[in-house]
Amino acid sequence: MHCPHCNKENVPSAQFCINCGAPLATDGSGHSPTVPPKRRNGLGTASFILGLGSIVLWVVLALMLLSAMEASGDSSSPTISPLMMLVGLLAIATTLMGLAFAVAGLLQKNRCKGFAIVGLFINAAVALYMVLSILLSG
Ligand SMILES: [Zn+2]
Repeated sequence: MHCPHCNKENVPSAQFCINCGAPLATDGSGHSPTVPPKRRNGLGTASFILGLGSIVLWVVLALMLLSAMEASGDSSSPTISPLMMLVGLLAIATTLMGLAFAVAGLLQKNRCKGFAIVGLFINAAVALYMVLSILLSG
């Protein structure tokens, strides 16, 4: 291949020009091998998954509350079972962890932030819903 800097012919597998030392693209994409591509953001992906998990937990909790209301026939004070307490605590923990992971993912440099931003929005929305439902019910 030809060096983009000095146009000297180099062997195809060369990573640097034998004439001027400029980095050569070895994958044919034209990207310099010295510039690292953006790595996947593990924390952002984790916050996204936690956000989805917290939504599922809240839906499960809401369905359990609804069935408890129907069973007791009193919509104002449904019986809270230990299982519902457990699901509620799990949902709160998942939401808070998702928020923390999203913020940590956004603070990382040279990472893709798409999942972290989506995770932040999902977990913030769930946390807002959580606070509002507690305020409205209390
Ligand atoms: Zn060169």
